[in-house]
Amino acid sequence: MDRRLFLGSAAATLALPGCATNMATRRTAPPPTGCLPRVLVSPDRVIRTMAGLRPFRAPGFVVRAEALGEKRLVHNYGHGGAGITLSWGTSKLAADLGLQGHQGPVAVLGCGVMGLSTARLVQEAGFDVTIYTKALPPDTTSNIAGGQFHPFGHYRRNRVTPEWQAQFIAAVDYSWRRFQIMVGDDYGIRWLPTYVERDGTPEEQLTPTFPPANRILRPDEHPFPSEAPAIGRYDTMYVETGRYLRQLIRDVQVAGGAIRVREFPSPAEIAALPERLVFNCTGLGSRTLFNDEELRPARGQLAILLPQPEIRYAYTMEAGYMFPRPDGILLGGTFELDKWEANPEPETIARIIASHQRFQARLRCTT
Ligand SMILES: Cc1cc2nc3c(=O)[nH]c(=O)nc-3n(C[C@H](O)[C@H](O)[C@H](O)COP(=O)(O)OP(=O)(O)OC[C@H]3O[C@@H](n4cnc5c(N)ncnc54)[C@H](O)[C@@H]3O)c2cc1C
Repeated sequence: MDRRLFLGSAAATLALPGCATNMATRRTAPPPTGCLPRVLVSPDRVIRTMAGLRPFRAPGFVVRAEALGEKRLVHNYGHGGAGITLSWGTSKLAADLGLQGHQGPVAVLGCGVMGLSTARLVQEAGFDVTIYTKALPPDTTSNIAGGQFHPFGHYRRNRVTPEWQAQFIAAVDYSWRRFQIMVGDDYGIRWLPTYVERDGTPEEQLTPTFPPANRILRPDEHPFPSEAPAIGRYDTMYVETGRYLRQLIRDVQVAGGAIRVREFPSPAEIAALPERLVFNCTGLGSRTLFNDEELRPARGQLAILLPQPEIRYAYTMEAGYMFPRPDGILLGGTFELDKWEANPEPETIARIIASHQRFQARLRCTT
C-alpha cells in the first residue's frame, strides 16, 4: 500500500507565529554514493509483530468546539495514519479554540499522542489539567505507530473542504517546528534521509520547509531496485513512539498534571465531570462515544527486526516501508480499512518479511 495514497495538495501555507522560513537558503543534500548498509531481513531476526487500528476519517481529522450542556467540548480526533505527525499541530489548533476566555481546570479525554500533546499545551498556557483515559501507554494505538513525520493516510482528497485544508497545513507547520526542538535521545526523535518511489516529481512541498532537501534522484544516483519512474529523497524526523510517550507522560506529571484511568461510555458521563472545558482526544473511541460513523479503523500490521544501529536511512517502496529505530527495525505494512481485529496475521507478516528480503537482496552500490 502506497503510504502517500491519501495525501492531498496544499491549498495554502498558513503560518503560525514564530514561523521563519527562507526558501532561498534551503540546501538539498547530495545523493548517496557507495553502498547503503543492508537491513538483515529474515524470519529469525523478527523480535515482535504488531497490528494497530488507525483512526481514519475520509473527511479528515476533527478539530471543532461545541457545547455539551454547560461545558465547552473541543474535539481533536480522527488522524488516520498521521497522528504522530499532526499531534502538536492539531492539538495547538484545539487548545487555541478551547482556551479562549476560559478560566479554571481543564479535562483531557485520552492518553495517546493527541491527549498528551493537548495536555502539555494546556499546561503551557497556564491551566491545570487532568487526563481521563480508558487505557495508558503502552496500550494505545499511538504506541504502535511507526513514528515517521509524514502526513500519510488520513483523508480523501475529494472529501475535504478548503477550511479543513487550511487547518491541515497549519497543523503540519506547527508540528514540524515543535518536533524539531525535541530531537535527541530524551524524546527518541532523530533525522533520517528518506527514499520514496515517485512518478517523476518530488514529494509534495506542503510548507516552505517541509519536506526539506526534497529532490528526485536519477537511476544512477540511488541504490534501490525499483520499477518506479523515479525515486524521491527528503529528510524527515522519526519518533521512537514508546520512549516519546513515556517522556510526555513525565512532562505532564512534572508540570502538575493528574492522570486518572476511567472509561466514558457516553457523553452524559463527560457532562458530569467537574471541569468546564473538555478536550476529546479519544481517537477511534470517538466513533461510539460521539456516534461518528465516518471514523473507521485502518489496520496496520508490522514486523519488527533486531535493531541495526548502522541503518540510517528509511524508505517507502512498492516492497513496503522500512523505518529503523533504536528499539528495532520496523517493516510495514498494511492499510486495511474496516478491519477491527488488532492482531497481526501470520500470513500477512510472512509476506511483508519476504517482500523486504527480496528488496534488500537487490540493493546495489552507486558511484
Ligand atoms: C501500524 C501503524 C503505523 C502508524 N505509523 C504512523 C507514522 O509513521 N506516523 C504518524 O504520524 N502516524 C502513524 N500512525 C498513526 C497514529 O498511530 C495515530 O494516528 C495516532 O496514534 C492517533 O492518536 P490518538 O491519541 O488520537 O489515539 P490513541 O493513541 O488511540 O489514543 C486514544 C486514547 O483515548 C482513550 N479512549 C478511547 N476511548 C475512550 C473512552 N470512551 N473513554 C476514555 N478514554 C478513551 C484510549 O484509551 C487512548 O488512551 C500509525 C498507526 C498504525 C496503526
